[in-house]
Amino acid sequence: AEMLTAGELISSAELAPTDGIALLPLRLEGVRINAGVAIGRAVLHHRRIQIRQVVAEDPKVELVRLDEALIGLRSALDRLAASPDMAQQGEHREVLETYRMVAGDRGWLRRMREAIQTGLSAEAAVQRVQNDMRVRMAQVTDPFFRERLTELDDLTNRLLLLLGAVDAETELPETSEGIIVVARDMSPTALLDYDRRTLKGLVLEDGAPTSHVAIIARALDIPVVGRVGQAFSKIDALDQVVVDGDRGVVYLRPGEDVQQSFSESVRLSSARAAAYAAARELPAVSRDGVHVRLHINAGLLIDMPHLEESGADGIGLYRTELLFMVRRSFPSVAEQTNVYGRVLDLARGKPVVFRTLDIGGDKALPYLPEESEENPAMGWRAIRVGLDRPSMLRQQLRALIRAAAGRELYVMFPMIAEVDEFERARAILALELERERALDAAPPAILRVGAMLEVPSLVYQLPQLLARADFISIGSNDLLQFHFAVDRNNPRLAERYDLLSPSALTMMRRIIIGCAKLGVEVSLCGEAGSHPLEAMALIGLGLRSFSVAPSAIGAVKMMLRSLEVAPLAGYLEALIGQADHSLRKKLKDYAADHGIAI
Ligand code: PEP
Ligand code: MG
Repeated sequence: AEMLTAGELISSAELAPTDGIALLPLRLEGVRINAGVAIGRAVLHHRRIQIRQVVAEDPKVELVRLDEALIGLRSALDRLAASPDMAQQGEHREVLETYRMVAGDRGWLRRMREAIQTGLSAEAAVQRVQNDMRVRMAQVTDPFFRERLTELDDLTNRLLLLLGAVDAETELPETSEGIIVVARDMSPTALLDYDRRTLKGLVLEDGAPTSHVAIIARALDIPVVGRVGQAFSKIDALDQVVVDGDRGVVYLRPGEDVQQSFSESVRLSSARAAAYAAARELPAVSRDGVHVRLHINAGLLIDMPHLEESGADGIGLYRTELLFMVRRSFPSVAEQTNVYGRVLDLARGKPVVFRTLDIGGDKALPYLPEESEENPAMGWRAIRVGLDRPSMLRQQLRALIRAAAGRELYVMFPMIAEVDEFERARAILALELERERALDAAPPAILRVGAMLEVPSLVYQLPQLLARADFISIGSNDLLQFHFAVDRNNPRLAERYDLLSPSALTMMRRIIIGCAKLGVEVSLCGEAGSHPLEAMALIGLGLRSFSVAPSAIGAVKMMLRSLEVAPLAGYLEALIGQADHSLRKKLKDYAADHGIAI
């Protein structure tokens, strides 16, 4: 830290650009967050802090402002250091110590003070010193020093915010080619600021598959690789980058052979997309005449065009929390009514199943302070929050009822663990309906209320649930996580348990048969339905409705159109009684032997 801030660390010889030295191709491993392959130029996403005032009249005042901000910065760092999370030794502790050293470094402080004496405001002086440092360090390729620069950047940003600068968090690319955004982590709104036409892929240094930005990236249907350690220090702006979201690998400055093979797979996937688009008008029906309803998952207005493009039957899961997650403050009833109304307008009469807020746990809202939990996925989330603090749920239900006045309204409650919770949620809905009626507002023409089946305990109350619910939707992401006791975000366990296992398929069959007996509509809205092989098995077990990623509609439909359901059903019946770890291989072989397009 001392070396860095003294500015004497790098001699001019060390600053020599790497001219003529071709940087070698690199392969960086990460985790798969969204499938697909993309090639483009790297854009390094930094937080962009905007300052409001550049010059100042009185340097004395500015020096005092700087000192006060520095005191604030140091005490924030001290508080951080004293927090229980930081109590132990380890790398994070060392990083923090480095921050504290930089914050107290005389060279850094001196140069900021000197900049103020030239007539700059305190914030402009801080930024000037930051820019100088960036220029000095720009050509250094050593990852160690690059890493130090990002630390200093972070510290400077904190200081700028203390001085009243605003966090604009955007950086516009300087290339007309397709771009790959490389970020430490970023807010979902920042990703939405990039032009959809040029944004081709995303590489995150952090980023869990369920992080907000990952959810948005999936909605945009761009390939994403997360947890790529040191992406920031290894990737330079405008480097050529291949994002292989299928394997969780990033190729940096790829050689010609790698480029060619990926260009080929990009071409093939666009050819496949064109074939699926051509299948848009074809009915979703199997060779032996079994019809399956295909819906899409959505959560933002930008998803709505997918409904028309994919030719889907409707929206089987509208994740309302995304609207709340991309905003800086809680949306009012009027704002929510407006958005839900527009969703219904854009759906043009096709059904939209609105899932009430599934927040809490790992889906945090920036404006709702949360207590940290040991097991957030099993913590205070979704309907649990809704029932304990009903005002948020009531406002949302009010907005949904108003938006759907005179139209069809489908409402679905998430994370229902027992029938009693469903009853209580329904009672809150009834209250809101009553309230609207008292105000003489037009009610929805039809109201259908469903539950997500994503907690295994509910499987054991299926008859009682089905007597009360108009429909159910299997949330296989969470259902499998709880069924196998496997954290859905833990990459080490990602491949360990399989929906295509005797255990999970037996549970699925129980649900599907239970619903068929009582004539209650059942769909599946987890990621599994987007995979043709999984969808094939579920259709074999009797499932007739899915809600999948928009980009998966074509593949699932083509699979269905090549499938004969009756023989598969018989085959599965025998198969799920076996003791295999997974039936994936056997089902794949079955598909290959029967010409099923997987
Ligand atoms: C699920 O759990 O399968 C689901 C669709 O909900 P989410 O992924 O939003 O938790
Ligand atoms: Mg879920």
